[in-house]
Amino acid sequence: MSAITHRSKTRPVRVGNLTIGGSDELFIQSMTTTKTHDVEETVKEILRLEEAGCQIVRVACPDERAAYSIAEIKKQINIPLVVDIHFSYKLALIAIEQGADKIRINPGNIGRDRYVREVVNAAKAKGIPIRIGVNAGSLEKSILEKYGYPTAEGMVESALYHIKILEDLDFHDIIVSLKASDVNLAVDAYMKASAAFDYPLHLGITESGTLFAGSIKSAAGLGTLLSAGIGNTMRVSLSADPVQEVKVARELLKVFALSSDSATLISCPTCGRIEIDLISIANEVEEYISTIKAPIKVAVLGCAVNGPGEAREADIGIAGARGEGLLFMKGEIVRKVPEETMVEELKIEIDKLAEEYFEK
Ligand code: SF4
Repeated sequence: MSAITHRSKTRPVRVGNLTIGGSDELFIQSMTTTKTHDVEETVKEILRLEEAGCQIVRVACPDERAAYSIAEIKKQINIPLVVDIHFSYKLALIAIEQGADKIRINPGNIGRDRYVREVVNAAKAKGIPIRIGVNAGSLEKSILEKYGYPTAEGMVESALYHIKILEDLDFHDIIVSLKASDVNLAVDAYMKASAAFDYPLHLGITESGTLFAGSIKSAAGLGTLLSAGIGNTMRVSLSADPVQEVKVARELLKVFALSSDSATLISCPTCGRIEIDLISIANEVEEYISTIKAPIKVAVLGCAVNGPGEAREADIGIAGARGEGLLFMKGEIVRKVPEETMVEELKIEIDKLAEEYFEK
């Protein structure tokens, strides 16, 4: 296998006001759960996703009612809108004409060459990309027959098949996903794909499960890829409110220092030395910093024994001490604060740091 193409070396592809690929930046996506033709509910959900940090949103487009809702939805949201289409070139054409910022359709599934050409020409005319979505569960029959069952090689072969159709029509604004619910299979497929072509990759572990199990599964699979420098955009798929998908994705990006616009919480696991109600404080502070758009590290520690020193990399933090808290910055104690007000004082200091960050 040839060398992996690092995410920064992939082809840059415009999606609305964003450029996916060609840099180290990774964009978070999610997908709505509403009926797309219900514009009011769909917009409401998208605005909640935006608020949580979602940067690109996808909607299902199962029928004409959905396709004809795209323009109205777009008017009311602020992030690029991707329209997900299966097979129907007609729906693809409507969605493109309605102003979709990207469509997800596999050209090999559209049917006649003439239809494929029409969709590609329409996308070209509007300057929007096409995402090829390879799924281990729906590989082409010929590929399945060749390999016997879904394999990483087969998934990459499927991607290359769809890519070639677009390239033959001189279309190169392509983004590719290779999803599988089997983590090892998905990781292997993305690894092989990143060595086989340089189009940006949309990462995802499909049907990963509920909030708890699915987050772990996604973190394992996506984390492996992120640490290898693979991936330009990602969606964490969960059987949960899509806002949770965005939250999990943001945490993952933070873990790999791929997010420059979110605060991180460091909190101790607690032990017999604990002096404050750390678990509820940690949850409250985590919720508070979830909307802070600055890369600040905040620590909350149960005691001061190993406390501030243990969290030296934190910009700000509190450590419990008998009946009070010690407010510290970069491992140095700044002042003592009463237990009743320590969380509020910490929040004020967090806000100050965020302001200073934006003033820089
Ligand atoms: Fe225990 Fe204190 Fe360390 Fe928390 S900071 S794990 S309470 S020693």
